[in-house]
Amino acid sequence: MLLLISCQTTPQAQTTPSTAQPTAVASPSGELSAYPAQLPPLPYEYGALAKVIDAETMKLHHDRHHATYVENLNEALKPQTNLQNRSVEALLRDLNSVPEEIRTKVRDNGGGHLNHTIFWQIMTPDGSGQPTGAIAQAINQTFGSFDNFRKQFNEAGGDRFGSGWVWLVRNPQGQLQLTTTPNQDNPIMNGNFPILGNDVWEHAYYLRYQNRRAEYLDNWWNVVNWQEVNRRFQLASQQ
Ligand code: MN
Repeated sequence: MLLLISCQTTPQAQTTPSTAQPTAVASPSGELSAYPAQLPPLPYEYGALAKVIDAETMKLHHDRHHATYVENLNEALKPQTNLQNRSVEALLRDLNSVPEEIRTKVRDNGGGHLNHTIFWQIMTPDGSGQPTGAIAQAINQTFGSFDNFRKQFNEAGGDRFGSGWVWLVRNPQGQLQLTTTPNQDNPIMNGNFPILGNDVWEHAYYLRYQNRRAEYLDNWWNVVNWQEVNRRFQLASQQ
């Protein structure tokens, strides 16, 4: 059986920063500002995804959780004038260059800001539940079928112990791969480009689903924005 799941439970060697301009991970307009970090508006109403995620969860998740990552990142970087012009992505790709006393804060809150910025964009009220375009073909080629892929993705998300994320990434070898990250780590910390990710922290689903993470993972596909996922897949291919 092809092993496509790797769990990043331990800090790994940082990738060497490339001299080439890296592709922006969160936004088409460039890399994410770390200082000042700003909370992006939700691209839809709080209740827009209610077939999967209730309005109260969305409000808490965006206005409190994401906002707190943004505040904490700004607080950590406030005295670090030499780091303030670096993007969130640049900081996360080269955490060893961040002073040790704020490294964990930058990792957790920079990662939280980046992960959630991507997360809001890859969801839509108009999800059909089925992939479209080039990513649909690539998923079939790599995983056999969308059903297989979804099953493996949901299993990986269910197996992620504690808090973290489950991702579809493009790895440095150019292949699609499933991976999970602990806490707020982002796949770019390991040289992978995040194409699609789901938040499996309890705060993402607990009000409606309580401890039923598997049910949340299963339902979540109904709000995936495949148009945006295709855009991200194309970006990943340009890496
Ligand atoms: Mn979250």
